[in-house]
Amino acid sequence: MLTLYAPAKINIFLDIIKKLDDGYHSLFMVMQSIGLCDEVTLEKTESGIELLCDDEDVPRDSKNTAYKAAEIFFEKTGIKSGIKIQIKKNIPSQAGLGGASADAAAVIKGLNEIFDTGLSTTGMIEIGEKVGSDVPFCILGGTCLAQSRGAVLSQLKPLKHCHAVLVKPEKGVSTALAYAQADETYLYHPDCSNMLDCCERGDFKGICRYAGNVFEQIIEVPERVDIKRIMRANHSLIAQMSGSGPTVFGLFESREDAENTVKQLGEKYGKVYLTETLEIE
Ligand code: C5P
Repeated sequence: MLTLYAPAKINIFLDIIKKLDDGYHSLFMVMQSIGLCDEVTLEKTESGIELLCDDEDVPRDSKNTAYKAAEIFFEKTGIKSGIKIQIKKNIPSQAGLGGASADAAAVIKGLNEIFDTGLSTTGMIEIGEKVGSDVPFCILGGTCLAQSRGAVLSQLKPLKHCHAVLVKPEKGVSTALAYAQADETYLYHPDCSNMLDCCERGDFKGICRYAGNVFEQIIEVPERVDIKRIMRANHSLIAQMSGSGPTVFGLFESREDAENTVKQLGEKYGKVYLTETLEIE
């Protein structure tokens, strides 16, 4: 039996470059792992894939990315065995935090360990990209630039350690629908080259200045204005939506500012989380 922590991600930067011929979109993203984690437990069985989850809304078949990851892993490695996957959900679903991708990445890493298949990181990423666009990043973790459909990854200098406050408004967002809406919208594009320059120089002030997410122009979340106002009043360095939303995150230098923000937001919103950025060596 093996238990792995599956960290959520936030998007410090997200731009849609163009629509590709296969309908997917070429992206430019700066992604960051955070300490809010699902717990994924794997247990070898005789045959088949069994998935259990403490959240009843999560599918238990191949619609679940963790299940799909196991299917593709067995197919690719030719291993004839079974696996029982148990997921304890802490990351909210349909939130823009990559929860499903994190679970899938943990399954790929865990199976590689249990079956001693010796897949390299590149080998695991090859499986991951077949499962979902954010899975390759979740395999690598830390601070990365993700391009194309998400599988072209470059490790960046670790982001300065920050305390992170997350608020998940009630609305759930379908990623597929968000991208379809993007195709119908004339988008103002955030500044990719200045963002990358700041990341490469480790210029944290610059990273905060050029942070941006095009999905804020597409996905309407009425609470976002108020959430950001409270975060900024408490000295957030960045206050921004993650992925295709609706979660809004704030990054803080001081733990006290982050705690005050949680207190104020907790009085108004149901799902408020306090965590931190993760550095992965
Ligand atoms: O890959 P993932 O399952 O996360 O993507 C969900 C949906 O989001 C895809 O079916 C696609 O419609 C859209 N998408 C996209 N371009 C990307 C990533 C996702 O169009 N790079």
